[in-house]
Amino acid sequence: MQDLFLYNTLSRNKELFKPLHAGRVGLYVCGPTVYGDPHLGHARPAVTFDVLFRYLTHIGYKVRYVRNITDVGHLEHDADEGEDKIAKKARLEQLEPMEVAQHYANRYHDAMRLLNVLPPSIEPHASGHILEQIELVRQILAAGFAYESQGSVYFDVRKYQEATGQYGRLSGRDVDEQLCTTRQLCGQEEKRATADFALWKKAQPQHIMRWPSPWGDGFPGWHAECTAMGAKYLGSPFDIHGGGLDLMFPHHESEMAQCRAATGHEPCRYWMHNNMITIGGQKMGKSLGNFITLEQLFTGTHPLLAQPYAPATIRFFMLQAHYRSTVDFDNEALQAAEKGLRRLQEARRTLRRLAPAAQGGGMDVDALRQRCYDALNDDLNTPIALGVLFDAAKAINSAHDGQMRLSQADIDGLDGLFQTFLCDIMGMPAATGDDSHQGDTALVDGLMQTILDLRADAKSRKDWAASDAIRDRLAALGIAVKDGKDGASWQRK
Ligand code: ZN
Repeated sequence: MQDLFLYNTLSRNKELFKPLHAGRVGLYVCGPTVYGDPHLGHARPAVTFDVLFRYLTHIGYKVRYVRNITDVGHLEHDADEGEDKIAKKARLEQLEPMEVAQHYANRYHDAMRLLNVLPPSIEPHASGHILEQIELVRQILAAGFAYESQGSVYFDVRKYQEATGQYGRLSGRDVDEQLCTTRQLCGQEEKRATADFALWKKAQPQHIMRWPSPWGDGFPGWHAECTAMGAKYLGSPFDIHGGGLDLMFPHHESEMAQCRAATGHEPCRYWMHNNMITIGGQKMGKSLGNFITLEQLFTGTHPLLAQPYAPATIRFFMLQAHYRSTVDFDNEALQAAEKGLRRLQEARRTLRRLAPAAQGGGMDVDALRQRCYDALNDDLNTPIALGVLFDAAKAINSAHDGQMRLSQADIDGLDGLFQTFLCDIMGMPAATGDDSHQGDTALVDGLMQTILDLRADAKSRKDWAASDAIRDRLAALGIAVKDGKDGASWQRK
């Protein structure tokens, strides 16, 4: 097993990763709130924790990866007031809220598949875990860290802070100044302090997503789901909780408080946060006109995009930066990423065509492999690992130019290096898009020849019904069959 060091947001240090149960890792990552098309902001945590998931598995852990779908309770502006994001979309589009959630969950899954993000082991929905969330709220109330107010239940941050001093520890925020002393100061009738957050919200008569609870009809607060579902599927505590830096406050800070209030301990051992994506140096936002969905990126249909970018290019581009650095998207950088990935893929193809030398010339493949492990063991440093692969590509090209000799063992070792680190762990395709297209072309040619052979058989048996049916069905697919004296040929109409 490798010694893996991960940056723990809670301690602000790189720590040696030690799982709670030998050989097993429980990983929880906050998934999307499914009320809109997946965009760049969704891609980064998905890709970051996909690489972590793949790497932990590669180094021998049995990983249970839980990534949730938020389909209820996430209100506008990430606040305790305002409309539920999914209910609002449903109202505007005159759909059932679950139709909205299903539609955008499907869109999210499609985009993740294109980005070669592996599905998690479990993908729980918030709406499917209302009972667990009610139970969590009951525990927090019983422990004295929450209060009921007009049919809603709020977390009592002041009381929790007085008892534990823990609120703000994850995000580094000073919450004391948010704890105003009177209701008048807060300007909010229901809450005792501005910093208090909803564990359960009373549903107004017009609110469509509602469930019965000990406090009346309502719905869970946004943070409750991750605390309840993480504990349900991974135990309490579990190993790693991940998510975007934008979720650190209030979402993760509140998750931590909820768990400690209910159980007396932390929800997890390690908190990991990926940094944000900016566009042309600016934060991405609908109002700024720089909000780019993944579909727009893949098809090039956004005024800011000079061309379409393949999902592999987007993925490679993100992995060229460390996950804790911001990534700035612009056309030049994306085009450079496209070229960089192609360079690695071309090098591997060149490698496979090289004639091996009887003896190698000092190529130390094991050292390259170790450098890749060292990089990934150092808080998943994918840019450094990619740098090692670029070094390998350089060596391959000089062998191709006759300036270096590679033995069969060197060639196999380098091929394995690309397979392990570029494909298996970083999730990049082995070949360029053009290659896979060529593969498709060969496959279509082979399939068409098989069909035409079957039709020729039918004709030789004078089974005209079958041969005509084959021709007509191909015609319906836009393929014309032409009978000639050397047999049949085909072409797209
Ligand atoms: Zn969450």
